[in-house]
Amino acid sequence: MLVLKNCAFVPFLTEDFDDACGDVLVKDGMIEKILPCGSEVPEGAEVMDLAGKTLLPGLIDLHVHLFYQTVSDVMTGNAIPAPVITLNAYRYAEELLKDGYTTVRDVGDLHCRAAMHVKKMIEAGKMTGPRITTSGPIISSNWTNLDSLDIYACGSDGFRDAVRKNFANGSDFIKLYGSGSLLMPSNEPGYPILESDEIEAAVLIARRNSSYVSVHAHGPTAVDMCVRAGVHTIEHASMITEDTLKYIDDNHLDTALVYTMFAIDEILEEPDTYNGQRMNALIGRITDSLKNAYNNHRNILIGWGTDVGFELYRTDPMREFRLRKEMLGMSNEDILKQATINSARIIRQDDRIGSLKAGKYADFVVVDGDPVADLSVMYKVPAHVIKGGTVIR
Ligand SMILES: [Zn+2]
Repeated sequence: MLVLKNCAFVPFLTEDFDDACGDVLVKDGMIEKILPCGSEVPEGAEVMDLAGKTLLPGLIDLHVHLFYQTVSDVMTGNAIPAPVITLNAYRYAEELLKDGYTTVRDVGDLHCRAAMHVKKMIEAGKMTGPRITTSGPIISSNWTNLDSLDIYACGSDGFRDAVRKNFANGSDFIKLYGSGSLLMPSNEPGYPILESDEIEAAVLIARRNSSYVSVHAHGPTAVDMCVRAGVHTIEHASMITEDTLKYIDDNHLDTALVYTMFAIDEILEEPDTYNGQRMNALIGRITDSLKNAYNNHRNILIGWGTDVGFELYRTDPMREFRLRKEMLGMSNEDILKQATINSARIIRQDDRIGSLKAGKYADFVVVDGDPVADLSVMYKVPAHVIKGGTVIR
């Protein structure tokens, strides 16, 4: 048994316990009980005194690609030997856990399914890493010209086949590539590259398997088509319109938006490149759309995503916290919920992760100071990380 003593709590991330501070009893990897400060320590328990620190649930990143180390991996993809891809994926997973991400969702793997194999090794206790949910390879139309990465399909029959095959090969959910990049020199940034019947076919088969579809979509038309076809998570959602948001609200859909500010900011920082210039020209429109969804549609869940390669990620692992504050003006409370309980709800795992509650996994980050009063506490990696009751750092 492990006892975390004298922890300060974040009230909206702690359930069934009202004091601002308490002791957490951990047994068999789960939160056994939360008790008032100063409660008696059971005999033989290991004790960590966390006085002066805040205990939060483990962080959740809903948009990573574990294989992805640098941009060239995306271009060369499956040409890299599978063992190298898998070791790279493991290295990324291990680092994410050390930084406090106790759960990650891999939204696009290579054909060797590195993320899935890493996940299985972690679940078997052979490696240390976060809890992982994986889509397997992305299903796309041949419009992307990324056959180095994706599985191509065409028409509703083709999408049904590809989705079934992905589930048969171990995918937990389905990822589609539903729009062009924002950066392509086309008429509409992020134009649609799938048709509604293709997306609907994927959604139907995923629902048959009690799962869901997530789609990469930037442009207004592509995002709208995904929402109307029943997609559960819209990745990026860069130019989502008021009409689409209203449609979600009016129909009480559980559509969630997974923002990825780190990936956008990365491109903005290269103003001398073509990509940088294009992104700088679009950024006002993107932030207006994302702010509108956040400010005016409070029932629509916004999840946590980063979407950068490992080499960039490790330069500033917690950058997503700062960017949501600075670029989108979100409140500290909402940002903390997005990185924990809201992302847990989006992937339908809030019975096990996302908040501190007896019966949930003992996944925690411990930070110096109070992140509700001062979010910059989250801009650096946490003082301690605990996953399933095991102290990682
Ligand atoms: Zn991505």
